Amino acid sequence: MLNQLTISELTAKIASKEVSAREATQACLDRVAAVDDRVKAFISHKNEDALEQADLIDDAIADGATHAERPLLGVPIALKDLLSVKGHPLNCCSKILHEYVAPYDATAIERLKAAGAILFGRLNMDEFAMGSSTENSAFQTTRNPWDLDCIPGGSSGGSAAAVAADECVGSLGTDTGGSIRQPAAFCGVVGLKPTYGRISRYGLVAFASSLDQIGPFTKTVKDSATLLRVMSGADKRDSTCVPELVPDYRAALTGDVKGLKIGIAKEYMVEGLDSEVKDAVDAAVKQYESLGAEIVEVSLPHTSYAIATYYILATAEASSNLARFDGIRYGLRVDGDSPADLYKNTRGAGFGPEVKRRIILGTYALSSGYYDAYYLRAQKVRTLIRQDFEKAFEKVDAIVTPTTPTAAFKAGDKVSDPLQMYLCDVFTNPCSLAGIPGISIPCGLTSAKLPIGLQILAKPFGEETLLKVADAYERSTEHHKARAEL
Ligand code: GLN
Repeated sequence: MLNQLTISELTAKIASKEVSAREATQACLDRVAAVDDRVKAFISHKNEDALEQADLIDDAIADGATHAERPLLGVPIALKDLLSVKGHPLNCCSKILHEYVAPYDATAIERLKAAGAILFGRLNMDEFAMGSSTENSAFQTTRNPWDLDCIPGGSSGGSAAAVAADECVGSLGTDTGGSIRQPAAFCGVVGLKPTYGRISRYGLVAFASSLDQIGPFTKTVKDSATLLRVMSGADKRDSTCVPELVPDYRAALTGDVKGLKIGIAKEYMVEGLDSEVKDAVDAAVKQYESLGAEIVEVSLPHTSYAIATYYILATAEASSNLARFDGIRYGLRVDGDSPADLYKNTRGAGFGPEVKRRIILGTYALSSGYYDAYYLRAQKVRTLIRQDFEKAFEKVDAIVTPTTPTAAFKAGDKVSDPLQMYLCDVFTNPCSLAGIPGISIPCGLTSAKLPIGLQILAKPFGEETLLKVADAYERSTEHHKARAEL
């Protein structure tokens, strides 16, 4: 079945004219029709539009277009509902955007289109990317394809579940504090958060601008490298996007990690770490040793401050970014007797409880009298966390950790306790605060047959090393081949 293939397997078949882009797209749409009433990864998708795109790609191939120039010709990719695609709805899984339709393409989308990808569907997420389970979506809760009673993680839960359920060949998500890596871990797929500044955020709805990054979900590390290369590189419409050279990431995937120094941090082996998760990560470390890597203990002493720091900075930035949703410029408008009432009515009806909680928290942290004690202090701690990594990377090439303290949990388990939900981010927040790249790859299953994620971290713009280390593990083990049965 074409929808089950990896990007590199599918493009090989399309290049040899064994299959068409239309057939590949139809296979994904059929799969969505067969399983998505149970998985609930998609909040919407337009079959006709996807098939029209596929036909155009088939015409281009007939006219001589090749994968050498356009590496994603015929590859169906589904998108988190936070990315602008011209003419498609954009809701951020919130009621506040109502019937808003994006008037332009995000830069990452433009680049995927230029590379020949077929972009379809709007994937479920926590409202405005705030959450760890998709239970904060205004529309629906996505289910984990490995166990439909469990959540897929969040906020990019729809993006992870859609790949795990073979409803698309790859997808895009966004990661502010772990929203690509955590759902990738929970759903047994590969999820990459690139270095801050690697991929343009033009056309991505902002949550916390000093942290947000776009990244791919795929079935293999090689596919992750392919999508990263297509989307990376400077963009004059996003001044935070760095004009750093974009290497051919796939060329770095040699399988050879002999002599590389891989760090393990004792601060990540904390209380509350599930024993099956710990065993899987320990086994992965042994695997690296057997591949010839040198294991080095490193210390990241400020790790325990990361969650508090993240939730002050992310909420502060969100409170400012979300001020633009006021009933005047976009989407929903609930009238009132005065402009203040109009704002109040619109925002009251449009935002869900978690988004309101964060706007209140962030506004408080930024208010005069509290700014120094919270926001400014958090910025200073953020620097310490970044410096922890700088020091560690003087000694090692990459660091491996668990992605999450536990495997996926049951829907409803944490939804009434926001602090418990925030604690899910303990291993993903530090990387986000430091702006370094991180990837989660499958490294085993629990006794309940739920996936476990291995997180790998590297230096800023060290994606070649990151992907090389991830790929070497993938090549030498079978964990990435385990599939959810639906
Ligand atoms: N769970 C984190 C939060 O709720 C991460 C979100 C994200 O990365 N978008 O903020």
